[in-house]
Amino acid sequence: DQNLFSALRAAFPETLDTAAIECADGPQPLVYSWRDLERGTAMIANLLGSLALPPHSRVLMHVDKSVEALMLHLAVLRAGHVVVPLNIAYQAAEIEYFVADAEPAVLVCTPRHFGWASRIAFQAGTAHVFTLGDDRRGTLLDRAGFQDDQHVPVRRKASDLAAIVYTSGTTGRSKGAMLSHGNLLSNARVLHEAWGWRRDDVLIHVLPIFHVHGLFVAAQGALLAGARMIWFARFDAAAVVARLPEATVFMGVPTLYGRLLAEPGLNRESCAGMRLFVSGSAPLLIETFRAWRNRSGHTILERYGMSETVMLTSNPYRPEEGRRGGTVGPALPGVGIRVRGERGEELAAGEIGGLEVRGPNVFSGYWRMPEKTAEEFSADGWFKTGDLGRVDADGWVSIVGRSKDLVISGGFNVYPAEIESLINELAGVVESAVIGVPHPDFGEAVVAVVVPRPGAALDGATIIGALRERIAHFKVPKQVLVQPELPRNTMGKVQKNLLRDQHRGLFG
Ligand code: ATP
Ligand code: MG
Repeated sequence: DQNLFSALRAAFPETLDTAAIECADGPQPLVYSWRDLERGTAMIANLLGSLALPPHSRVLMHVDKSVEALMLHLAVLRAGHVVVPLNIAYQAAEIEYFVADAEPAVLVCTPRHFGWASRIAFQAGTAHVFTLGDDRRGTLLDRAGFQDDQHVPVRRKASDLAAIVYTSGTTGRSKGAMLSHGNLLSNARVLHEAWGWRRDDVLIHVLPIFHVHGLFVAAQGALLAGARMIWFARFDAAAVVARLPEATVFMGVPTLYGRLLAEPGLNRESCAGMRLFVSGSAPLLIETFRAWRNRSGHTILERYGMSETVMLTSNPYRPEEGRRGGTVGPALPGVGIRVRGERGEELAAGEIGGLEVRGPNVFSGYWRMPEKTAEEFSADGWFKTGDLGRVDADGWVSIVGRSKDLVISGGFNVYPAEIESLINELAGVVESAVIGVPHPDFGEAVVAVVVPRPGAALDGATIIGALRERIAHFKVPKQVLVQPELPRNTMGKVQKNLLRDQHRGLFG
């Protein structure tokens, strides 16, 4: 049996009565034992079984973060169905798209959305709608409460579909990445080895669980180790710092590291018991990397992955191998990475091009998008990540931007990543985002949005002047706007679409 759930279940400690998940926030502090996870997932799996769903039915989850939501995810796997987690921030129009696309047999939504969400689901032919609140209320648990607490996991092959994870929609409409039990389990096992997961680890879990980072890397990483989690339904920097002395592992997106650095309690003493800080989902600023090392005495391990592939590269775990800021490390065992130019030609070490990958972790395609799938795989079966980067002679990977993120100004191609890295090196700059804005003469004009260091007096003209000395003039921004921060989504990704909308009227 290759069911991912069975592998996770096999890692539970023998004494099921010890703590598996301790809730750090929420209405009543709660501890869930391994037995609670075993029984809860069995009962929900039996409830799903009682619905006599067709094989490979999709179960769409649009719920707040809770331990029961994690149990629902595990129960869907256990019952052999396909889990489709969705960002809770999505509103009615977005849910309408995902329901039409995924055609779920079951929708589980938060009670406060039941009115509109059930209408959308029933109109689209979804047979069952349940509610699940973050306070254990709702029809899902009411109904599961009547079910038997014994359940034999449904057998699955490695190639059977386990989850459809919708991409974050950073570069366009979200696509459903089809991940199999084998994709997820092979990656979980590789990470278990690579990061030295241990049974006595304690993970501080702060990430959302509708995304690969919080769900497959963090939560399932701890489960596969039989390790305990301190569970935050909401991120609270001060509260996280207060729990660090009890923990060994923390995983976050770059924005969370920035917020933790603002806490005076973050220091060598509070981090003394920690063995691993992981960052990913968006680029970690070198400033944050350095500041973290100075304050905590620990070096953040940055890794790189995506919905379509789970994790691809990781900085080394063993400190003697050295973690390098600004890189995402070598490919994980079993993962192949190569760099291709615009015409598909293989590039030499150190040259920037499109990253292509293959391995047991790489998805089989986009849900119901055969053409898109065909476009994004090369003729010899490598997946085109859509990320631009370089691989140096010893195999270390650096991400420099996204291939779709291209500005065409007056017929010339401008890669924002190149301009951003030059701007970020200028004194007084924290970070920047370069975008294309409609322009009557040039089609698109290059515009830079720059975030100043606190107290630094930046002005656009100086930045433009500095760039004019370094790069071709068609690449130099026509305007530089100074803003206190960049818009980011919950995963810490800069939302350039919002910046483009905000500044689209700049040139009339
Ligand atoms: P969409 O595919 O819909 O445009 P998305 O690519 O942002 O959205 P995800 O699958 O959630 O959706 O994110 C994967 C992307 O996140 C990667 O392709 C890469 O661009 C970025 N990413 C992940 N980890 C890192 C990292 N450590 N450094 C830089 N970028 C990263
Ligand atoms: Mg993507």
